[in-house]
Amino acid sequence: MQSTLSHPGPSAADLKVLFAASEAAPLIKTGGLADVAGSLPPSLRRLGADVRLILPAYPEAVQAAIPIKPLAAIKVWGADEPVRLLEGRLGEDLPLYLVDAPGRFNRHGNPYVDAHGKDWRDNPLRFGAFCHAIVAVAMDRAGLQWQPEVVHCNDWQTGLVPALLAEEWNRPATVFTIHNLAYQGLFDRRCFNDLHLPNRLWSPFGLEFHRQLSFIKGGLAFADWLTTVSPTYAEEIQAPSHGFGLEGLLQHRSKRLAGVLNGVDYAVWDPSRDPHLPTHFDRDSLADKGAVKAALQRRLGLLEAPDALLFGNISRLVEQKGVDLILEVLERLMAVPNTQLAVLGSGDPVLEEAMRAAAKRHPGRVAAEIGYDDPLAHLIEGGADAFLMPSRFEPCGLNQIYSLRYGTVPIVHATGGLADTVIDNTPARQLTGAATGFVFHEPTPQALWGAIERAIDYYHRPGPFWQKLAQAGMAQDFSWNKSATRYLEIYREAEENPAHHPLG
Ligand code: ADP
Repeated sequence: MQSTLSHPGPSAADLKVLFAASEAAPLIKTGGLADVAGSLPPSLRRLGADVRLILPAYPEAVQAAIPIKPLAAIKVWGADEPVRLLEGRLGEDLPLYLVDAPGRFNRHGNPYVDAHGKDWRDNPLRFGAFCHAIVAVAMDRAGLQWQPEVVHCNDWQTGLVPALLAEEWNRPATVFTIHNLAYQGLFDRRCFNDLHLPNRLWSPFGLEFHRQLSFIKGGLAFADWLTTVSPTYAEEIQAPSHGFGLEGLLQHRSKRLAGVLNGVDYAVWDPSRDPHLPTHFDRDSLADKGAVKAALQRRLGLLEAPDALLFGNISRLVEQKGVDLILEVLERLMAVPNTQLAVLGSGDPVLEEAMRAAAKRHPGRVAAEIGYDDPLAHLIEGGADAFLMPSRFEPCGLNQIYSLRYGTVPIVHATGGLADTVIDNTPARQLTGAATGFVFHEPTPQALWGAIERAIDYYHRPGPFWQKLAQAGMAQDFSWNKSATRYLEIYREAEENPAHHPLG
């Protein structure tokens, strides 16, 4: 391969990478991490790296990865019986290892919480065993006769891996990606003992965080390189407002912290071939989006009004996503004739109920689907005119990027990846055609409403203005190639310059 790396070094073809995550689409998905873990490794592979993915063996993942074959059984802390390592494939050719810890992952549904939305009580043991198994593979102690040069860990569920590997001689380099700093994997000190973690790691410079065991600190303090999923979020998490008490550590590590914007998989998210859409369209046939809008309105019981301005929202219904801000402006939105809102999400029962109640108050104009529904998510991206994303913070955010490609104009709060991907429709940019959406700067109902009002105005302006704005968004390219190349550079840097052990 022609190397695009900034410094000389072996080509990507030489590089063995173990990519560890707790979810990966299409095997198992709760959010953006799955989209990334399902699409970045294949992109790295296309660039020539020998990437293999390792996940917990949830029943859905085992089912989707069939045929699988048992590879090895290893004894790890956190699991009473030996852990089985299963081998499968993601897509055509991505090697996949599934960690089957008896009694730990064989549960249907959400990987992290039970049917009542409560964290599984044995999460520290589940993901602790997962981390120990990743280390066994990383050190070639699982009998695979393959040792990675780089282990790329993602979020707290894999956080212990860089800490455990830092204790090893002849270890692979480690890269840790923060997809959302709000989720840290904090547990009682007792779990530290149950997982038989080396004693010296119990330190404020190690895994201890205010007398609790912090999985994420294993990544933040010990990995050779840290990344997060957008440049703006990389800055934000170094400030108290977004650092959740970890900002000092992140500042300390800032020379080894990079913001690499997530790419998206246009093989899955493309209105010109999306199997979940009844009709296809692209930039040159944007008028055909109308048929998708009609299908969405029918599917959700909204009035089938072609000229209604239809807003969409798909998210985990949690405070982070600013769902309460949407609820705050909802009556004002409904006071404007010919507006509609389609919401898909699940999460906080209070927000779920409030959305259901709003739909009841405005039949035919507000639809709230509570649950997780991938085909409907595609249909909303395809059929809505505008997409609301008022997140209080947003590490990267994928739905606004999908919206751009589907000609669904995003309305976003200027934070994290939203600030890095959507260009505000200011009067100056209306002249140049550079804008792609509407951006507001405070996470308040007033600011959100200001952006919505600008959108309503622009939608009704006579002439093809709205279409041009949507088409400018559709022309944006957020495919993985550039970001995957950047990851390869970071892998090389991590390998060539290992970090000092924080405990000496
Ligand atoms: P986060 O990872 O914080 O949830 P992202 O915007 O990065 O947010 O990614 C969310 C992903 O999950 C997107 O692919 C989105 O379409 C999907 N998603 C979120 N909620 C639902 C839902 N209720 N039904 C279907 N897909 C959903």
